[in-house]
Amino acid sequence: MPPVPPPYDINLDLGELVVPEDVLQARILELGRQITEDYQGRPPLLVGVLKGAFVFMADLARAIDLPVEFDFMAVSSYGAATKTSGVVRIVKDLDLDLTDRHVLIVEDIVDSGLTLSYLRKNLLARNPASLEICALLVREGNAATEVDLRYVAFRIPPAFVVGYGLDVAERYRNLPFVCVYNEKVAGH
Ligand code: 5GP
Repeated sequence: MPPVPPPYDINLDLGELVVPEDVLQARILELGRQITEDYQGRPPLLVGVLKGAFVFMADLARAIDLPVEFDFMAVSSYGAATKTSGVVRIVKDLDLDLTDRHVLIVEDIVDSGLTLSYLRKNLLARNPASLEICALLVREGNAATEVDLRYVAFRIPPAFVVGYGLDVAERYRNLPFVCVYNEKVAGH
């Protein structure tokens, strides 16, 4: 993979480029076209999972040529148990009622898939007309829980990544691309 482009290369904790900006944007336009086709006559309610999905959701929504609606949820881990149990706490719930709506969950990255499995179950219980998931990234080489992902922008190698909404301690969300985060250089 190529290094990150200037001027971002001055941050030594940023590693190789995983998804360049032009590739990201082209793929999002493609996904937007596909979603526009699939949701003809039944405009979707986009549910963004905060905070990581906000950048992706903003671009994806503008690539969808339908009268979409928006809502957001924020979830947080129940301590160390979350990674293994998949139990998450809803920090901010939705404002809208999902009854009879065509819900499309927009997520940044799927790792174990436990967060999404929980969210899917939780939102299905609210009687939407349909419920699908759109993920920007899926990390490969992980024994991911079987989550039914309707739309995936990119499958990426098993490295920790930042950019395009994804952070480390709230930094790097505004990078216009996705790249590896070098934990050793950063001293974590
Ligand atoms: P899962 O429940 O699928 O194991 O974890 C998904 C969540 O973990 C994502 O929504 C994201 O918040 C966080 N996460 C997983 N992998 C990465 C990564 O490579 N970079 C960042 N910044 N967050 C990640």
